[in-house]
Amino acid sequence: MKKSIILSVGLAACMATGTYAAENNNFNYKVDRFADIEVLRYRVNDFEKLSLQQKQLVYHLTEAAAYGRDILTDQNGKYNLAIRSTLEEIYKNYKGDRSTDDFNGFVTYLKQVWFANGIHHHYSTDKFTPRFSSKFFADEVAKLPQATIAAIGYANAAQLVETLSPVIFDPTVMPKRVNQDDGHDLILTSACNYYDGVNQSEVETFYNAMKQPNDPTPISYGLNSRLVKRDGKIYEEVYKVGGKYSAAIEKIVENLRKASAFAENDKQLAHINKLIEYYETGNLRTFDEYSIMWTEDVVSTVDFINGFIENYGDPLGYKGAWESIVNFKNVEASHRTEVISNSAQWFEANSPVDARFKKENVKGVTAKVITAAILAGDSYPSTPIGINLPNANWIRASHGSKSVTIENITEAYDKAAQGNGFNAEFVIDSETSDLMDKYLFIVDNMHTDLHECLGHGSGKLLPGVSEDALKEHGSTLEEARADLFALYYLADAKMIELGLLDNADAYKAEYYKYILNGLMTQLMRIEPGKNIEEAHMRNRQLIAAWAYEHGKKDNVIEMVKRDGKTFIKINDYNALRNLFGSLLAEIQRIKSEGDYAAGKALVEQYAVKVDPDLHREVLDRYARLDIAPYKGFVNPVYSLKKDDNGQVVDVTLDYTEGYIDQMLRYSRDYSPLTAGK
Ligand code: ZN
Repeated sequence: MKKSIILSVGLAACMATGTYAAENNNFNYKVDRFADIEVLRYRVNDFEKLSLQQKQLVYHLTEAAAYGRDILTDQNGKYNLAIRSTLEEIYKNYKGDRSTDDFNGFVTYLKQVWFANGIHHHYSTDKFTPRFSSKFFADEVAKLPQATIAAIGYANAAQLVETLSPVIFDPTVMPKRVNQDDGHDLILTSACNYYDGVNQSEVETFYNAMKQPNDPTPISYGLNSRLVKRDGKIYEEVYKVGGKYSAAIEKIVENLRKASAFAENDKQLAHINKLIEYYETGNLRTFDEYSIMWTEDVVSTVDFINGFIENYGDPLGYKGAWESIVNFKNVEASHRTEVISNSAQWFEANSPVDARFKKENVKGVTAKVITAAILAGDSYPSTPIGINLPNANWIRASHGSKSVTIENITEAYDKAAQGNGFNAEFVIDSETSDLMDKYLFIVDNMHTDLHECLGHGSGKLLPGVSEDALKEHGSTLEEARADLFALYYLADAKMIELGLLDNADAYKAEYYKYILNGLMTQLMRIEPGKNIEEAHMRNRQLIAAWAYEHGKKDNVIEMVKRDGKTFIKINDYNALRNLFGSLLAEIQRIKSEGDYAAGKALVEQYAVKVDPDLHREVLDRYARLDIAPYKGFVNPVYSLKKDDNGQVVDVTLDYTEGYIDQMLRYSRDYSPLTAGK
């Protein structure tokens, strides 16, 4: 629920903030380009400034991160590991002509499967359409050694092809990983592997029966398990040592133990040990204890997420996808978020929201800017730029939450986008474009800070209102609430007063981009004829389209045509800010009161449907720019440097590994779950 992903694609902004050293200019950010994807690399700025102890802590945490990759791949679909292994073996074994359409289509598909951790698009969750033939697949499988086929989990090549070929090639088989389409059984029509043999009402009945009415500290029911029905009986296969995914979790635990020897302090040691206890028991109460200890560790420089965290991959939102991000604090840039979170109470008190829905005491919003050291599982290769955890609302209410902006990732996005022609194509005039060049990087990061540190943490539910009252629209409305909070305050004089911005017009760069993205440019991610489904995209269109509609009588936002092209023109930024404030007040009311009907109406009216003509135009204009709609990252390679006595004297990083090499290495060295298990 709590993640920001990159708002828009391809916006270039020059670095006016002075945050980055000049030598970054020589860093090669671009790694690979295929289908709708560009793979980048990020730089782990200032890793060399960590102590040897901190470096070793990071090293072992990155090892623990790398071992979870297979878990996520299997969670995304029950044939994914077998398919990935088969494709990789074909790739390594291939001796034929590498210039054929079949082979090139095959390689693109393999790269897509790696990127998505499965056969469904990481963002749209639609199944990929392979651009190679099923005959090519069957022919190449037949050339694989029998031992390879057996290791993948099949008796022979024919059996493997018979099972996997329809899953890969038949568009009607498992067409969607996460189906949110109302009116269908969301479990039966979703290909994710969190459930087996159960339908939606059985799942809902199972978990509703577990919930205790008026429990002030509810566990996250179902978060770390697969729900299955065998012989008429429904039960959970819990992800833990000795349970589901044991082989991978054992390796994660082993490396967390190694990491714990280098803990920076007792607090950190205690939560690492608690996490190990959780992985060993699968007990969700232990996970909550861990989450509290982790939230309250605000002193450590090195930090990490490792576990079953976000629930976007489950249409009903119970199950957590495995992920890990290891990071350390960017002390200089964190000054910005500290200033914001120190004023949290002021922001809460002055928001345009009805007083009944405000928090009297905003608790412990800790915010920092971090440098990512490794991305894994659900955060790899595609990754968020901001995170706010833990997700359990009662923990957030009583213990606060940790909020981060991952600035070496936004830096990589920004650097890679420079000179891509986006502004020239889509921004209405040079005045706006110049403002964006000058301020967008900083206000974009600040938007993320405000969204994460304040937006998600603001407001409260009225007594008796359930956290999941907004059901399938909960994520969209929650993201809208956080975005609106950020948008509203970006334009506030408080930002100048706090010394966060030096120009009272800087916010306009973000406003322009937000409306442009929400009304037009994000459509480049949608296939012709399809609706918007992903929660963050729905949220952005909801806000932009609502503001457009409600500002019409005062001509706040205009869509102007020039040479057959549509441009966004914002005539009154101040009125736009007020519109954001009004919508924030309404969405907070909906959340606080649990007004499902009003939330559903907002989403359905503004967030879902796409104007086909405008959509076509955006796709055409983007096609000419050749900007990849989606981006992700390879990780650096970490190595322990030892002296002659075997003592570790340093941890070194290498940035030269390519995308294919990294994926094959991970599958070779960090793949404890053999397919089919
Ligand atoms: Zn968010």
